[in-house]
Amino acid sequence: MDDAQYPGLGERLARVREEIAGAVRDAGRDDDPALIVITKFHPASLVAALAELGVRDVGENRHQEAQAKAAELADLGLRWHFVGQLQSKKARQVAAYAHAIHSIDRVAVIEPLDRLADEGGLAAPVDAFMQINLTRDAGRGGADPDEIEPLAERISASPSLRLRGVMAVAPLNEAPASAFARLAGYSARVRAVDPEASGISAGMTHDFREAIAAGATHLRIGSAITGKRPQAR
Ligand SMILES: *Cc1c(COP(=O)(O)O)cnc(C)c1O
Repeated sequence: MDDAQYPGLGERLARVREEIAGAVRDAGRDDDPALIVITKFHPASLVAALAELGVRDVGENRHQEAQAKAAELADLGLRWHFVGQLQSKKARQVAAYAHAIHSIDRVAVIEPLDRLADEGGLAAPVDAFMQINLTRDAGRGGADPDEIEPLAERISASPSLRLRGVMAVAPLNEAPASAFARLAGYSARVRAVDPEASGISAGMTHDFREAIAAGATHLRIGSAITGKRPQAR
């Protein structure tokens, strides 16, 4: 089947699932984190091959690419997760196909979504993860940790979003375990605002074991499963 087009895809997926199960056991956890396969830069046919292998949640980081693939694969019933930096101008368009947005980091991206909901243009609230910047570089995506409480309150009250929890990318210059420990503390602050918002979206190819140990509930894993990404076009 699709293994001819994407040799090794099924084996890599199975291996990652086993490694996740091992890390969950090692961490003494009895819940299973959700696996979101990040398919950015790969063609829609690879996403279709993943769907055939049982994958239901896929993630993308660029709006135009995500929109095109979601439209092409609309029949597959996949849940699309938007994980890239979100432009406020594009927020409404992203909400048209995204089941979840992992990069809600400022009021400016919430306002257009709320207007859409008020106009009746949204079938259901979109799952929202509040992205938090774990670096000292303000140019990186994510809210400053000082903004956690007011932003969590704002998302919680939003008619367009359902606050699910926090999201972060581990900085390059810090051990993932220490960065994710900080994120777990931020998650507790968000839960103090909204007890339902217990999700932690963290863990990529090179750090998902540490993320699982720190309580990640939503893993965003790309290249360990898809193979090397083609160059950006
Ligand atoms: C690309 C990407 C991932 C997956 O990265 P891999 O290292 O390929 O697993 C996860 N999260 C975000 C926000 C990404 O942009």
